Amino acid sequence: MRKETKCVHSGTIDDIMSGGVNSPVFPSTAFNYVDRQDVPYPRAYNTPNQKAVVEKVCALEGAGEGGDGVLFSSGMAAISTAILAFAQQGDHVVLMDELYGGTHSFATEQFKRLGIGYTFAATDAGAICAAIGENENTKVVVIESPTNPLLSVIDIRKVADCARSKNAVTIIDNTFATPVNQNPLKLGVDVVVHSGTKYFGGHSDLCCGVAVAGKENAQRIRSEARHLGGSVNALTCHLIERSLKTLALRVERQSENALRIAQFLENHPKVRRVYYPGLASSPHHEMAKSQMEGFGAMVSFEPGIDAGRFTRNLRIIKPAVSLGGVESTICPPAATSHAGVPVADRQRLGISDSLLRLSVGIEHYEDLIEDIGGALEL
Ligand SMILES: *Cc1c(COP(=O)(O)O)cnc(C)c1O
Repeated sequence: MRKETKCVHSGTIDDIMSGGVNSPVFPSTAFNYVDRQDVPYPRAYNTPNQKAVVEKVCALEGAGEGGDGVLFSSGMAAISTAILAFAQQGDHVVLMDELYGGTHSFATEQFKRLGIGYTFAATDAGAICAAIGENENTKVVVIESPTNPLLSVIDIRKVADCARSKNAVTIIDNTFATPVNQNPLKLGVDVVVHSGTKYFGGHSDLCCGVAVAGKENAQRIRSEARHLGGSVNALTCHLIERSLKTLALRVERQSENALRIAQFLENHPKVRRVYYPGLASSPHHEMAKSQMEGFGAMVSFEPGIDAGRFTRNLRIIKPAVSLGGVESTICPPAATSHAGVPVADRQRLGISDSLLRLSVGIEHYEDLIEDIGGALEL
C-alpha cells in the first residue's frame, strides 16, 4: 500500500459486531485477566485503540514486520521517555543545538540532576559525529531535520552510522517532516518520535506524541513509559486515528502550497531572506532531495518591513504559536518558541528578531499569496 492508502486503512480494528467501517472505540480501563496475557490497561500502552493508532503510524514510518511503537499524551512525553529509556546515570547524550526548545531545556534543566552528561553539537552531521567520537560514554544521539525554525537539513544516514559504530541509539524528532515526507528508520535511525499535536492532529485541537522503533527498542521505551505515565484515553485515540486518515492528503497539499509561497517570497523585493529546503537556491536542497519525499510545509523568512506590522496586516494567516494545522499560522520564533534561548545563542544560530515562521495550511495558495503580498505592501 502507498502512504495515502495506509493513512486510511492501516491499523483499523475490524468491527465484527456491527460491520461499521471505523474502528470501534473501547473506553474500558479494566479488562478481564482470566487466561489472558498482556491484559490491556491504558498505562501499559496496549489498549485496542492505542494499538490501532500505533499500527497506522508504524505503517507510515515503514517500521516493517519487527516495528512497534508507543502512543503518548504529548510530544514531550514521547521525547523525554525515549531518551530516559536509553540514558542511565553516568551516560553521555549528544544533542544537536538547533533542537525543539522543549527538548533543549529537558537536557539543560534535567540531565545534571539525573547524572547524565551532554554535549550540544552544531547542526551538521560532521560536528555531531565528532561529538559522538569524543565521548566514550555516548549512549544516545538526539537530532531533528528539518530544524525549527531555520529548516536546516542534516545528513541523517551519516549521523545514524556514526552512532551505530559507537553502539549509541539515534533518536530523531520527525515532527516537521511527518512520515509523509520522511522515513528516518529507512535511513538507519533507531527511534522516531513525533509531536502528534502538530500534523497528526492537524486541526490544532489534539495533544499527543508517538515513538516508533524496532521491537526491542520499542519495548524498552514502553517499560520506561509505564513508570512515567503519559498515556492516552480511548476517545482521544479515536480522534487521532480519524485525523491520521487525512494526514497524507493534508501534508501533500500543505507542502505544495509551501513551495509556491517560498518561491513567491524569494522573488519579492520586500523580502530579505527565505528558508525552505524545497527551494533550488537553498544550501540544503540537495540533501533534502536525497532523503525526503517532500519538503514539508514550514517556511521561515525575514520580511524587509517591520515583522510586527507585517503580521498585523495579514487577513487570512493567523498569528499563533504551534503549527501543523489546516489553517495557516505565523509567529516570530525570537519572541515565542525560542524566547528562552539567550540572545547571543539566537544570533549565533541565525534566529533574528525579524524572522517569521509560517506554518502553511490547506487554504488555496493564491489566497495565501495574496494575503502575504498585500501585507507586504501596506
Ligand atoms: C511541538 C513540538 C514538540 C513538543 O510536542 P508537545 O506535543 O507540545 O509536547 C516536539 N518537537 C517538535 C519539533 C515540536 O514542534
